[in-house]
Amino acid sequence: MTSPESPRKPIMVGNWKMNMNHLEAIAYVQKLAFGVSDKDLDRTEVAVLPPFTDLRSVQTLKEADKLKILFGAQDVSAHKDGPYTGEISASMLAKLKVDMVLVGHSERRAYHHEDDDLINAKIGEILKNSLRPLLAVGETLPIRQAGDAMSHVIAQLSGCLKGVSTKQTDGLIVAYEPVWAIGTGEVASPEDAQQMCLAIREWLSSRFSSTVAEQTRVLYGGSVKASNVKELMNQPDVDGALVGGACLDPAEFLRIIRWPDQL
Ligand code: PEP
Repeated sequence: MTSPESPRKPIMVGNWKMNMNHLEAIAYVQKLAFGVSDKDLDRTEVAVLPPFTDLRSVQTLKEADKLKILFGAQDVSAHKDGPYTGEISASMLAKLKVDMVLVGHSERRAYHHEDDDLINAKIGEILKNSLRPLLAVGETLPIRQAGDAMSHVIAQLSGCLKGVSTKQTDGLIVAYEPVWAIGTGEVASPEDAQQMCLAIREWLSSRFSSTVAEQTRVLYGGSVKASNVKELMNQPDVDGALVGGACLDPAEFLRIIRWPDQL
């Protein structure tokens, strides 16, 4: 993470994937909120991404207890409304006051055949509803082995953010998630994470402006846990982490959030 003068506040985002029903979600958020101190939240923003069925419960708890923990959705429809069985629109999410919407996760790309055009349409819906996109990008192992990781990630950024104006980047978060590191226990080296996060920032600067590049948080995701988060966060262009498996245990997620206290 950058110096204390950095305009970017670190953020730790827990992606629950298809885990926890709404009752478990309430218990989890209560436990997390009890553990997270004002000092933690002064240093780092904290967000959870529960399944759709949990969002209303998390929203109600957040509002009732005035929690400062952020929450968001793991996906959204590319359509405004209409005959799209099983889909959830951005306006429905806006009504729940979610703080962000994840799009482009590699599991959506792999298992639901989502491509950059579809993700771009989803981002359009997110922005039309004044929500904040959390855009995940990242290369597969064969792409990395072929030496094409950077051009692949830049092409994903360029396709997913097509037509987005500089003004609309307010609140955008980008997560670099190498597919080979997701859920595998194999984490990118801090140097590789830094190199890609810097390349993403440089692309943001040329596509939008140096101010956008300076203000947009770029996260690393892929097998982050308490034991490896600090060396990743010590990289100047890594502004936080998107955490899958390790966030399901609130105590471990808390240790990740408290990375600055690690010796
Ligand atoms: C993720 O799902 O975005 C992720 C990074 O998962 P994990 O931390 O389990 O690798």
